[in-house]
Amino acid sequence: MSTTSVAHLIPECADRPGDDPIFALNALATRRAEAGEDVLNSTLGALMKDDGRLAVMPSFFAAVQAISREQAAAYAPISGPPVFLNAVVQDLFEGGPLAAHAVAAATPGGTGACHHAIVNFLEPGQELLTTSYFWGPYGILAHHTRRGCRTFRMFRADGGLDTGALAAALDRHVEKQGRALVVMNTPCHNPTGYSLDDDDWSRLVDVLAAAARRAPVTLLLDQAYAKYAAPGPKGWLGHVERLLGQVTVLFAWSASKAFTQYGSRIGACVAVEADPAERAAIKNALGYSCRGTWSNCNHLGMLAVARLLTDRDLRRRSEEERDELRRLLSARVQAFNALAGARGLSYPRYEGGFFVTVFTPDADATMRSMQEEGVFVVPLDGAVRVAICATPVVRIPRLVDALARGVRAAGG
Ligand code: PLP
Repeated sequence: MSTTSVAHLIPECADRPGDDPIFALNALATRRAEAGEDVLNSTLGALMKDDGRLAVMPSFFAAVQAISREQAAAYAPISGPPVFLNAVVQDLFEGGPLAAHAVAAATPGGTGACHHAIVNFLEPGQELLTTSYFWGPYGILAHHTRRGCRTFRMFRADGGLDTGALAAALDRHVEKQGRALVVMNTPCHNPTGYSLDDDDWSRLVDVLAAAARRAPVTLLLDQAYAKYAAPGPKGWLGHVERLLGQVTVLFAWSASKAFTQYGSRIGACVAVEADPAERAAIKNALGYSCRGTWSNCNHLGMLAVARLLTDRDLRRRSEEERDELRRLLSARVQAFNALAGARGLSYPRYEGGFFVTVFTPDADATMRSMQEEGVFVVPLDGAVRVAICATPVVRIPRLVDALARGVRAAGG
């Protein structure tokens, strides 16, 4: 019997890629470091301290201690404990008017929220619409659920969000599909680091509202890195309020980065919809999708996060710990901006967040040149992704030097 033939998997699953490319690059960097080389691994999307260890917020474990064993061990409600869902809604909307129009379901991280958005707001065969640089799993989630993923050019020549390209693409989606799901990851977009500014938001809302006059339009706001945005009021909430009654707005909320709990798989899909009947239907649909996929989520983790968001002392502790992590990241961002600008690197406006993307005419050539120096980054189409979150501040000069040489080696 042949060992290579695949008889039992259905044909569409017989050729799935075996390894995530970013994890494969990380494995290569780790092997070379273990062989004694001085490797700088700027591939992985987790916040590491300057000593190279994972940054962890101790307050999460204090919150865990306060949950009884019986509570932790019991099944969670299918859609998630109300105390957790309410706390997430408050965390997102900070007491503003959107909270009154929100329903939510628990999901394993923001990934689960993206899944629920795709299966409930697109028909099989239809495509979501996102920026030309995007987090790869959007495409996997879409294909895995028999939908597709289409992109629009992310940046205009002046560096702002290309809402003209979005409008044209949205027009085609409305025409062809009779509905649209637009996925935006802001603030601190992965992979570019870009955060929409007030002007981007204004134009985005105008484009979405115009399309929504022709067909149902849903906006999914992926908030994975929201807690690492530049400090200041959440001005974008006002823009989202303008969409109320026109566009259904979904939020992918996640504790992975917000509470450094990547492995606990805590998150929520929050939907803001003005019409009460539709809102109730969305709540049911999200809960049904929970039952039809992972059933229910990590009870202990959700109860701990609920406490972190609502208990005054725990909340203060976690905010102080996070401020410390933001300072750690911000020192790297500032060092990068100071050096990369001076070396003539081309990259989007970068004010904070785990990643930045540096443009290059040939990403593979840039990656290879950098790897020869022991510096690891992730190649994209026309750019490389640099995980500032995993790069100690003292190694930013080496990173920028390697990037500058790598872009030059690619003809840039
Ligand atoms: N969205 C973006 C843009 C991400 O980078 C990630 C994680 O890397 C996620 C969503 C989902 O992460 P999680 O499922 O751990 O919340």
